[in-house]
Amino acid sequence: MAKDYYDVLGVARDADTDAIKRAYRALAMKHHPDRNPGDKKAEQSFKDATEAYEVLGDEKKRPAYDRYGHSAFQNSGGGGGAHPTSAGFGDIFEDMFSEFADIMGTGRRGGQQRGVRHGSDLRVDVDLSLEEAFYGTEKTIEVTAPIACESCSGKGSRSGRGAQACGECDGTGTLRVQRGFFTLEQTCRRCQGRGRVIADACRRCQGSGQMRGRSRVSVKIPRGADNGTRIRVSEKGGFAGAMGGKNGDLYIFVRIDIHPIFQRENNTIMCRLPVSMTAAALGRSITLPSIDGGKVSLKVPAGSQTGDRFRLRGKGTYALQSAMRGDMIVALEVEVPRNLSERQRKNLEDFEKEEKKAQNPESESFLSRVGEFWTRSKRRAS
Ligand SMILES: [Zn+2]
Ligand SMILES: [Zn+2]
Repeated sequence: MAKDYYDVLGVARDADTDAIKRAYRALAMKHHPDRNPGDKKAEQSFKDATEAYEVLGDEKKRPAYDRYGHSAFQNSGGGGGAHPTSAGFGDIFEDMFSEFADIMGTGRRGGQQRGVRHGSDLRVDVDLSLEEAFYGTEKTIEVTAPIACESCSGKGSRSGRGAQACGECDGTGTLRVQRGFFTLEQTCRRCQGRGRVIADACRRCQGSGQMRGRSRVSVKIPRGADNGTRIRVSEKGGFAGAMGGKNGDLYIFVRIDIHPIFQRENNTIMCRLPVSMTAAALGRSITLPSIDGGKVSLKVPAGSQTGDRFRLRGKGTYALQSAMRGDMIVALEVEVPRNLSERQRKNLEDFEKEEKKAQNPESESFLSRVGEFWTRSKRRAS
């Protein structure tokens, strides 16, 4: 059921046109979608108020509504939505929308306090060796960013006085303008809403206080940093400029170089270990490096195979902000000798002659499966 238009606007049945306009204006300002983004209830209230005003604010429609209620407009389609139809309504609305657009447009920029503009955030990628990341390190990074103007030390003014309150808007950044029955807030054009102006602009930076330049920033990279670890260095990004505000932040993205011995998988250090055929067959104690620069010894048992894995507890890397170390996993790769001498070949041939059953279980098992496969195929063919 449609709501009573007088109730919607909160005015008496005998309210005059001005009272109706004032009531609508107040509601429209309060519930306008631009002021209440995403608020469905506000949007509906705005529509209802507009619909009510469309009728009660119209000299012809209001008497019809008074006599017949909502049914007066049921067939004509009048009063059906937030579309301004009558002449007096149109300009009010246009004004309101343009003002909203202006105010919102300024206010939304970065969601910052009016006039205060933060410096730009920056991203810098830093390449680290696996060892550097293991221990943590300190890096000096060169950043190309807006820095404070050298001529005016970032103040933007020749005299060094910096920004002064804007005389046009008394430092508020906004001007109040009377337009019809609306008092509108307009962004001050002189200071562009900042509330402050620089009277004697520095020639080098045109009053912005900024110039393009390089700065050096020292960054602590924590122990356990990994590929993709992001470190925020507060206020070491772009210089904010003459109007103040915080400098931007600097974001360091860590990239880990490929290591000649180790690969890192989370906090596990992987190591591919090639061993000679004889070492794998006879068994051997092997000394390996660990990521901390020390040595670990690994007993490769006789008869070890390619793909065999050995876990060395606590020899991996630290997790970020943790004293616990992951493990090191060594994966064996048996290497078969190449370029044999005559004597070696002879020895291996003699060795082969002496090979017994169950000494090569993998190949024996494979050969027997191949045999079965061929038997089945032959049976099917005949
Ligand atoms: Zn300057
Ligand atoms: Zn101003």
